[in-house]
Amino acid sequence: MKRHPNNRGGDNPFYQSTAWKRARRQALERDGWACVLCGASVRGKGRARVDHIHKVEGAPHLALEVGNMRTLCTRCDAIRHSRDRGPGRSRDAEAEQHDNGGMSASWRAAYEAER
Ligand SMILES: [Zn+2]
Repeated sequence: MKRHPNNRGGDNPFYQSTAWKRARRQALERDGWACVLCGASVRGKGRARVDHIHKVEGAPHLALEVGNMRTLCTRCDAIRHSRDRGPGRSRDAEAEQHDNGGMSASWRAAYEAER
């Protein structure tokens, strides 16, 4: 599978869509172009990562909800994704399960504010 070597979303055309690019930018502006985990600035080409809190695969109806997005720097994004794939870290797995069970209060507030 090397048809789209520059496409971070794999073969998913979603990440090429105008709707995603627009929502992604809204998330970046909401978060002030800073990583929500470490506070690093993501201003500058190729530095920003917008992460789905609930993965698109599991919650496609939230794919374009800015309330389901958060800004990460490349470093935190890499940590998050390596942790997703990494085996045998039960504490992280529990946290991830909790995360998938529902939005936290602060994210719920941000989500509702968008309405
Ligand atoms: Zn970061």
